[in-house]
Amino acid sequence: MDTKYIFITGGVASSLGKGIISASLGKLLQTRGYKITIQKFDPYINIDPGTLNPYEHGECYVTMDGMETDLDLGHYERFTGIQTTRDNSVTTGRIYMSVIERERRGNYLGKTIQVVPHITDEIKRRIQLNATKEHFDFVITEIGGTIGDIESQPFLEAIRQLRWELGPQRALNVHLTYVPYLAAAGELKTKPTQTSVKQLQGLGIQPEVLVLRTEHNLSDELRTKVAHFCNVEVDAVIQSQDLPSIYEVPINMQRQGLDAICLKKMGLDLGETLDLGPWQDFLSRRKSASAVVNIGLVGKYDLQDAYKSILESLAHAGTYNDHKVKTHFINSEHITRENVGEKLSGLAGVVICPGFGQRGIEGKIVAAEYTRTHDIPTFGICLGMQMMVIEFARNVLGYADANSSEMDETTPHNVIDIMEEQKTITQMGGTMRLGGYECALVEGSRTWEAYGRKTSIMERHRHRYEFNNRYLEEFEKNGMKCAGVNPSANLVEIVEIPALKWYIGTQFHPEYSSTVLHPHPLFMNFVATCIRNK
Ligand code: GLN
Repeated sequence: MDTKYIFITGGVASSLGKGIISASLGKLLQTRGYKITIQKFDPYINIDPGTLNPYEHGECYVTMDGMETDLDLGHYERFTGIQTTRDNSVTTGRIYMSVIERERRGNYLGKTIQVVPHITDEIKRRIQLNATKEHFDFVITEIGGTIGDIESQPFLEAIRQLRWELGPQRALNVHLTYVPYLAAAGELKTKPTQTSVKQLQGLGIQPEVLVLRTEHNLSDELRTKVAHFCNVEVDAVIQSQDLPSIYEVPINMQRQGLDAICLKKMGLDLGETLDLGPWQDFLSRRKSASAVVNIGLVGKYDLQDAYKSILESLAHAGTYNDHKVKTHFINSEHITRENVGEKLSGLAGVVICPGFGQRGIEGKIVAAEYTRTHDIPTFGICLGMQMMVIEFARNVLGYADANSSEMDETTPHNVIDIMEEQKTITQMGGTMRLGGYECALVEGSRTWEAYGRKTSIMERHRHRYEFNNRYLEEFEKNGMKCAGVNPSANLVEIVEIPALKWYIGTQFHPEYSSTVLHPHPLFMNFVATCIRNK
């Protein structure tokens, strides 16, 4: 079968959950046996979100092949289990960059370079790029932002052209809009949806399917009205009501036939609608888990989306341990020696979060000291691991001035130091140690046990600093052990204190690899320990 393209656009407002709808549709098509991939095209000008502050754009997700991407790629992977690549995340910046580089090489042979056709051609090429490397039955492309945005225009023009070139059997548009409820009038309002579809039509794109985000149930009458105003069939007007969990969205979409309508429109046989099997089991287990385990998240970003993958990984592991994980965000900037007991003592476990820069690190160090000396299960991730190491150096090894050279370049005890190959780097974007690297686990370690005694694992990275091997022997002698090393560079990737219940820090980010059907073994083991520690 030739690759078919489904475009997901959004109108009326941002944050309607296009990413979740894209991931859900991908999941449903997979359930029918199709091979799919999902990609995100973001109209902003940054080359990638790697240099963006999490307050701007939430978490930066990292693919196995080392691309820093939008957090929606995390949803795609968690829902579908696919592994995305650098070609699944494209921004306006990357599009322009390749066009400009080509122009500088003289490849355009003296032509004037314009948005149409040069930028739009490059967008079209990128949309189809994944399918030139590997066969996919469906490529789902989510367009970031909303259709009215100035910077979205070239993307919509590219979609319009592609739909024309590929034809209706191979290209389809699903448009997500919002139906607000006006409490004073007691009414649901369809006008914003009508206007948004008109706007899309004005750009030459007739959506085949509409997904209406709403906080209230939409009547058949209302759906019919939308269908008539928007040139869409009634059964192609689907509602996406608020649900208790994002993981219920695929079930809701399947019930209303989102996948079925897409197949029908593209001329494919429907066949049997299979139930979601293990996914359904996950949901029932999630619903029946009533016992709660309280886990603290020590970080500096006071924003849910900044730690998206960690929250989801904890939730997956909670479900498979038949518990609800209740996370408590503790702002590390406000943690002091005086109040740390009050802030952390009631928790069954603590995650010390990743991050960059000075702000909030002293609080993380105080938290690491408290959980180490009170034997509270602790999971340090990336910067979190580095703070565990610094704390141990200061309070156990007695190096009061121990630090990371990220925070204090002149510290005499740089137990965390910049990696050799990072020293000469001056460009900040995309130059960290990024993506999957092998890690050889130390046999007999806690981490090795948690990974089911695997000798070698592959995990994703995003950092410039690293454990300083000069201190390794001293750490090990005093009880903090190295439990995993990168074999080619001999970098310490995992530290642990085996004498404690669970005190493990990883230089890598296991949270990027936990999926609904395959929770991550380290999170599973951590949450199980927290439950025993309640
Ligand atoms: N700032 C640290 C480093 O660059 C940790 C990065 C992170 O937590 N992702 O090494």
